[in-house]
Amino acid sequence: MTYILVINAGSSSLKYQLIDIDEGHIIAKGICERIGIAKSIISYKADKGDKFEKESPMKTHEDAIKLVLDLLTDKQIGVIEDMSCIEAVGHRVLHGGEKYSEPVLIDDQVLEAIEECIPLGPLHNPANLMGIRGCMAAMPGVPMVAVFDTAWGQTMPKEAYMYALPYEAYTDHKVRRYGFHGTSHRYVTGQAVKKLEKLGIKKEDTRVITCHLGNGSSLSAAKGGKCVDTSMGLTPLEGVPMGTRCGSIDPAIIPYLMGRTGMNAQDIDTYMNKKSGVYGVSGVSSDFRDLKAAADQGNERAALARKLFCYKVRQYIGSYAATLGGVDAIVMTAGIVENDPYIREGILQGLEFLGVDMDWEFNMTCPRATDLEITKPTSKVHVYVIPTDEEMTIARDTAALAL
Ligand code: AMP
Repeated sequence: MTYILVINAGSSSLKYQLIDIDEGHIIAKGICERIGIAKSIISYKADKGDKFEKESPMKTHEDAIKLVLDLLTDKQIGVIEDMSCIEAVGHRVLHGGEKYSEPVLIDDQVLEAIEECIPLGPLHNPANLMGIRGCMAAMPGVPMVAVFDTAWGQTMPKEAYMYALPYEAYTDHKVRRYGFHGTSHRYVTGQAVKKLEKLGIKKEDTRVITCHLGNGSSLSAAKGGKCVDTSMGLTPLEGVPMGTRCGSIDPAIIPYLMGRTGMNAQDIDTYMNKKSGVYGVSGVSSDFRDLKAAADQGNERAALARKLFCYKVRQYIGSYAATLGGVDAIVMTAGIVENDPYIREGILQGLEFLGVDMDWEFNMTCPRATDLEITKPTSKVHVYVIPTDEEMTIARDTAALAL
């Protein structure tokens, strides 16, 4: 058994999973919340045990990781003898700028580079660093690996990642498309490429569009298994509408609304990131389950929010088909489209011209969050539902580099 601890640290939270990489199995997982705030709480669930929760003071991420280790090694509910069973730690890191196109073993230089990228990921990178430093303090000598959300986008050609702004925006301020959800797009693209290879398509010829549609949503186009475009940009705000993010809009709306409402830069940032998206359109919720329930009750704005979401995703699929010169597979992944057949239907209807021949009945009746194909066996374009697996991917990356 080879145990890898996977950490996803936010500013006041720390999600963790202990993974047995040999079995591809999650041994235990949980989350520390309200770190640095009163009433911090840790949850823990061993694979074969009940969920456990306790309030416990956590001033820092180091305190949090110590509590995680205490629970993992607890005599009653723990899953390992002692800390030395953990061979390596994999950290999800938001922004690696242009420096990292691959996961990397963490050393002082890598820490410095993550720090340098703070202006590009002002909310996440400092939190990711706290998570890494907390682990380093609590687990000295254990190798750590950083897996960057932006790494996948580093193979995009320049015409795809540059914005048509004065060139100095790029050279002086690093303004370009980076893309996010990289670990998820990489994993599901890899899975789709394997399926296409089995159908006789050479890896280098594969054209895959991946739709990661969850709390945050983005699409990616991959040729030969490498990213050639992706919908999120300098920040995760660009692209399709999301739970509370507006996605791409006419940029002139920003000064227009600032002028009319008196919102400042911070206000408009919050407006676009937290008050918009399907939540802003519907006025109901950012959760697609709530929107469906409201739409079924006759709420027109909730129905509109769902329609608008599907419309924009379908547009991106069309534009990426043009980017790739055709498409062999479209992948549906993450919370919304692993679960909601109506949204899949809303997105995929009308794509027959691309060669998508859906099995609409199976789309409605197929099990949720399961790896399967929802197009007919004769369809030219294969539409796959592939549950994403970011933590397992981080664990595998970590094992490959650290062991
Ligand atoms: P994720 O970011 O992948 O965890 O996805 C979370 C989102 O998936 C939630 O905010 C919901 O909008 C959506 N979701 C989860 N379960 C369902 C479901 N059964 N039906 C529709 N949407 C769902």
